[in-house]
Amino acid sequence: MSQFSLHPGDTIGILGGGQLARMLSTAAARLGLKTHIYAPEENSPAFQVSDAHTIAAYEDEKALERFAERVSVVTYEFENVPAPTAAFLQARVPVHPGSNALHVSQDRLTEKTFLTQEAGTPTAPFAKVDSQQQLEEALAAFQGKGVLKTRRFGYDGKGQLMLRKPEDAKGAFAKLGNQPAILEGLIDFTAELSVITARAVGGQVLSYEAARNLHENHILKSSTVPAGLSKTIREEARRIAESISTSLGYIGVLGVELFLVEGDTGPHLLVNEIAPRVHNSGHWTEDAAFTSQFEQHMRAVAGWPLGSTQRTHDVTMENLLGDEAQSYRKVLATANARLTLYGKAEVRTGRKMGHVNHLHPLGNLE
Ligand code: AMP
Repeated sequence: MSQFSLHPGDTIGILGGGQLARMLSTAAARLGLKTHIYAPEENSPAFQVSDAHTIAAYEDEKALERFAERVSVVTYEFENVPAPTAAFLQARVPVHPGSNALHVSQDRLTEKTFLTQEAGTPTAPFAKVDSQQQLEEALAAFQGKGVLKTRRFGYDGKGQLMLRKPEDAKGAFAKLGNQPAILEGLIDFTAELSVITARAVGGQVLSYEAARNLHENHILKSSTVPAGLSKTIREEARRIAESISTSLGYIGVLGVELFLVEGDTGPHLLVNEIAPRVHNSGHWTEDAAFTSQFEQHMRAVAGWPLGSTQRTHDVTMENLLGDEAQSYRKVLATANARLTLYGKAEVRTGRKMGHVNHLHPLGNLE
């Protein structure tokens, strides 16, 4: 059986030109593959390290046509790729992960429905909310506590409101712009975790160990592995991530965010959301695993075998946000600290400028 497979020297097209595309390009180069970045923004960080780039809108069919002619496969670094863009490209060249992964992850209601009904994975209780009245009814059903989230275009805590008592619902639907939304039950979690999993053409699946994530102002601050979890929970996290990627017939790296909950019958996991791409909480793999998530994604979309996901160090990945990246000299002078900077010219508060992997010998953070 002949399977889809690139040759060294072939070109992978990437939609989006931020730090994820940049690190994907560097990983591709290591494997003798080329990348062509397609992004609307001039001076995108990934342009600096890729073989070619196109600056054009995602709706520009002429530019998309030329891009499709020049690449062997297309992938992306963000989940909000417009559906018509994905469909246009898919008619001309393979797109991995496929459009069903985009469809599922672009809408929180579709995503939660898929997770619970098709992948058979547990999530917070959720309800569809299309009006203030539906919000109040759903909040009453969730004992007056919940998180209201717009169905589309939410990230880093944007497009969501925490409701801790029934009165908090007042005007909440309008505050989120009267948009289709969902209400989730408020989860009293003990930790936020994530698993990065990869699935190859042909169905091989390999996952990295779960990371424990800390957020500040809704933005990821750090990810630590090992995450201090029992073997049962580690296995459960892996099983959940793999059943999601298998249910999607997925190709590439997938990020799965989880809540660890202390239930009456012991600790268990709920899926918060999925990201059909390499994930910030997987940046630790660059320096502390046999194969980085970026190389893994390039291997998968090229139709190549996956690499080992084995961990080589204990590690804490720390994001450098805004001005924090000014401390690069200090990081460079720190033993066991591995610095990555994203080549962004403009510093803005909260903007992801780089990250540091603080490495320790295996067994040190247990
Ligand atoms: P999200 O954009 O869905 O990843 O949510 C951003 C953050 O809000 C998460 O990382 C959690 O800290 C918090 N959060 C989201 N959903 C819930 C929930 N159902 N219950 C409690 N906290 C939540």
